[in-house]
Amino acid sequence: MTYGELKNLAEDRLTLAGIADAGSDVRIMLTDLAGAGPAFVAAHAEDEVPAETLERFMAALDRRVRREPLQYVCGSWNFMGLDFTVRTGVLIPRQDTEILVEEVLRVLHDGMRILDVCTGSGCILISLLRYSNDCIGTGCDASPKALAVARENAAALLDDMTHVMFCEGDLYGALEAGGEAPDGGFDVIVSNPPYVPSEVIDTLEPEVRDHEPRMALDGGRDGLDLIRRIIDGAGDHLIKGGALYLEIGFDQGAAVSGLMKAAGFAEVEVIRDYAGLDRVVRGTRPILEGSISAG
Ligand code: GLN
Repeated sequence: MTYGELKNLAEDRLTLAGIADAGSDVRIMLTDLAGAGPAFVAAHAEDEVPAETLERFMAALDRRVRREPLQYVCGSWNFMGLDFTVRTGVLIPRQDTEILVEEVLRVLHDGMRILDVCTGSGCILISLLRYSNDCIGTGCDASPKALAVARENAAALLDDMTHVMFCEGDLYGALEAGGEAPDGGFDVIVSNPPYVPSEVIDTLEPEVRDHEPRMALDGGRDGLDLIRRIIDGAGDHLIKGGALYLEIGFDQGAAVSGLMKAAGFAEVEVIRDYAGLDRVVRGTRPILEGSISAG
């Protein structure tokens, strides 16, 4: 089979499988899995694809036809300009989350200690460490599968593995298990927790619904189960003046900023993503506690 034939066949099969932008998927798959970018395919349309490449590509195509996410099929995905390994069992990094990283980067300075709750692939924590100086990061997650991927990503993307650690457990409970909480607390806590309301999950694309880990998506009845617990526990793990940054669903800005204010956070702010949707809520643990909520 030639490159031209393979491209057409792949596009036809993905279109038939109900994938909207089959052309884009095929371009990415040919580039990543067959080393054949669009220019190469155009120049070599009449050339035979080597047997080994063809076999590998066809196996990947079968997975994609079954609506396995493109990112799992390719095995890695770009986030904040870095290539993260992803596979079944770990939430795929979303571009929407880059705004969360960018907001935290604005306040980071040398030596800060960062806690990433529900770290998943590690994409948030690793990006923060990669684009700052001498910060120290702890990532926790309830899923050992996710932590294995996060550790792999840290080893591949960070020069200094002594500044990052990962621990397994239920939210802040992971810190006790890992014995990793710094004296006095963290300067920043960041999290992209599961926040999709349980009943919404069944309405999502098959890629997400059937293949991504439910525990990374399901936030309970109103989507806020984990967010509530993260906000409630944050005060005990942040230094005074430290900040909490949470990713939220587009319709959760008012609810989550209300929860943060009720928990005594100051300077609570809802931040929009590049699509203009509420995406991040941040708040500061006051230096003088009680002064804000009393007012
Ligand atoms: N943004 C993700 C989605 O809609 C949800 C991620 C999450 O729950 N943290 O699929």
